[in-house]
Amino acid sequence: MEYKYTSIILDKKDVGETDRIYSFYTLEGGKIQSLAKGVRKSGAKLAGSLENFLFAGVIVMRSRGMGKIVGSVVENNFSALRGNFHALSRVSFAMKTFDKLTNLDYRDESVFYLLKQYLEIIDSQSLFFSTRKNEEYENKIELLTFIFLFQVLSYLGHGCEVVCCSECGKEDFGQRFYFNAKSGGVVCENCAREQKMNFELSVNTVKLLRLINRENLYFFTKIGVDKKEIDFLKLIVIEMIRWV
Ligand SMILES: [Zn+2]
Repeated sequence: MEYKYTSIILDKKDVGETDRIYSFYTLEGGKIQSLAKGVRKSGAKLAGSLENFLFAGVIVMRSRGMGKIVGSVVENNFSALRGNFHALSRVSFAMKTFDKLTNLDYRDESVFYLLKQYLEIIDSQSLFFSTRKNEEYENKIELLTFIFLFQVLSYLGHGCEVVCCSECGKEDFGQRFYFNAKSGGVVCENCAREQKMNFELSVNTVKLLRLINRENLYFFTKIGVDKKEIDFLKLIVIEMIRWV
C-alpha cells in the first residue's frame, strides 16, 4: 500500500551498495524509518528531496516492515538556515538528538508541530542574520535550540520540575536553587546539601526555566536572555538527556 506522510527528515544511514535508510518524523505516523533504494547512485533524483531536516511529503510503499520510499515532494527546504554554518551545526545536533530520544512509531502531533516550528524559527532568524551582530545571532540560535530540546523532553515525559523542589516537593527553595537531573529538576537548598551531583543555578535561570514551561518557542525570539543563562540551560538539557 502507498502512504503519504507529512514529514521532517531527521537523519540517514548508508546501507548496502547504493541504498539508504531514512529516519523521519511524521504528522500521520510519528517517527518512521524507511529504505530508499539506489539513492546514492549518481543522478538519483530522490536524494535531493530527502536531505536532512527538509519538510516534505514522503511517499512510502509498504506491506510490512519498513517499506520503500518511492517519492518525496519538498514543501520547505529552510534555505536561510541551510546557508548559515552556525545554524546548520546546531540544527544538525538538535535533529540527531531528537532522533535518539524518540522511539520508532512514537507519535504526538504536538511534537511534530514543535519540530516544524523550531525549523521555521531558526530559518527566519537566519534570514536576517546579516543585519545582526554575530554573537547576538549565535546566542539566539543556541537559546532556541536548547529550549526546543527542553520542551521535547517534557513532551516525552522527562520534563524538568521547576515550581516545587523535585526531591522533597516543597515550594520554598530556601536562599539558593540547585539542579539535579536524577531528581528531575530544581532542588531546594536543604535537599541539595544531602545530595551529590548538584549544581547551583542563578535566580534568572530558574525564571527562564519557568518561562520555558509556560511559553511557546516564538515567545523567545522576542526576549533577550544573557549568555550566562543560556550556558546554564545547555548544561541542564545535556544532563537531562544523560538521564533519559
Ligand atoms: Zn527539597
